[in-house]
Amino acid sequence: MEWSLIKVNGKQSIYNLNRKDLFEWAKAKSISSFYALKIWENLYRKKITSFPEMSDLKLDIINILDQSFYFNHLELVEVQESSDDTVKFLLKLEDESLIESVLMDHKFGKSVCVTTQIGCNIGCNFCASGLKPKMRDLEVYEIISQILRVQDYLDKKTKEKITHVVVMGIGEPFDNYDNVMKFLSIINDDRAFAIGSRHITVSTSGLSPKILDFAKEDIRANLALSLHAPNNKLRSQLMRINNVYPIESIFAALKEYIQITNKRVTFEYIMIKDFNDSLKEAKELVDLIEPIKKFAYVNLIPYNPVFETGYERSSESSMNSFFDFLSKHKIRCVMRREHGSHIDAACGQLRSRYIK
Ligand code: SAH
Ligand code: SF4
Repeated sequence: MEWSLIKVNGKQSIYNLNRKDLFEWAKAKSISSFYALKIWENLYRKKITSFPEMSDLKLDIINILDQSFYFNHLELVEVQESSDDTVKFLLKLEDESLIESVLMDHKFGKSVCVTTQIGCNIGCNFCASGLKPKMRDLEVYEIISQILRVQDYLDKKTKEKITHVVVMGIGEPFDNYDNVMKFLSIINDDRAFAIGSRHITVSTSGLSPKILDFAKEDIRANLALSLHAPNNKLRSQLMRINNVYPIESIFAALKEYIQITNKRVTFEYIMIKDFNDSLKEAKELVDLIEPIKKFAYVNLIPYNPVFETGYERSSESSMNSFFDFLSKHKIRCVMRREHGSHIDAACGQLRSRYIK
């Protein structure tokens, strides 16, 4: 088993382990699986945050836990609540790094958007997170702690449960693949958060080899692909990763992904004024998606302007015409409702106000 490099006093955070890791650790310490399960449920069902408070454990188990693990701290720096019930959390990690999580309110439940890296190296030039280089990947416990923190906020307010998780915050999840997969295994665990795989979505800028790895995972979470442009010329202008994994490479991977999983793919397409929002691009997009149309779903997203980028949001009428063209050509598509537009909603925008 590989342990995290980040340790406090030689201990690692208990939230770094998924159930399999915890059971392996327990076995190595001669702790029965009966008690291992109790530890797990104390963490994620009862949400107990210190080992001595785990009253259903024997003292010697509590002592071994205490010697091996600690509970990491996640400081709440700022909470922004929007009138549409979107809540944005600015959080400080133990090394003082700032990250964001967003809680969104839907008809179908409560979803949380988590951060997976400190900054992002993909370097999309429209995105606040891409403006600064990546400092490091988040550890599993740092991603899980975001869910725990947001659930704690809900527990104190309405007691509603988080029902959906979207891995769409700061960072490229497939550039921190193993930690993100372990995180998914914890939120999906039926004795932890029990969030069903169909309620989990991972968004990628299109790292083709990882799309294939993702297709083979046991957890069949949903995949969202940040397309944003229907041809390589435009896409490369927005996303320099397109020079490494151009549209052909992404679509070849997606076809295989669909073959393996039989699942649909959501294409995210941010609408940028006079850049990718004309009927010419709409037609190109229809042609591009045509071969996998049955499995495709397009999310049209009004661009959330980031001051430094110079890009503007498409007009209402351009977005409507684009949407109508796609619908007319039987491409399933939605115009995404905006969340918290007046509270720095787009990923990384709150954090970027703090980091100069
Ligand atoms: N790195 C991953 C996931 C995080 S970004 C990815 O790129 O898919 C999540 C989504 O937010 C992506 O589709 C991204 O393109 C979009 N996004 C980033 N900045 C935005 C902005 N200013 N306005 C609207 N969407 C934005
Ligand atoms: Fe990174 Fe996604 Fe932002 Fe691109 S859009 S810079 S991949 S977080």
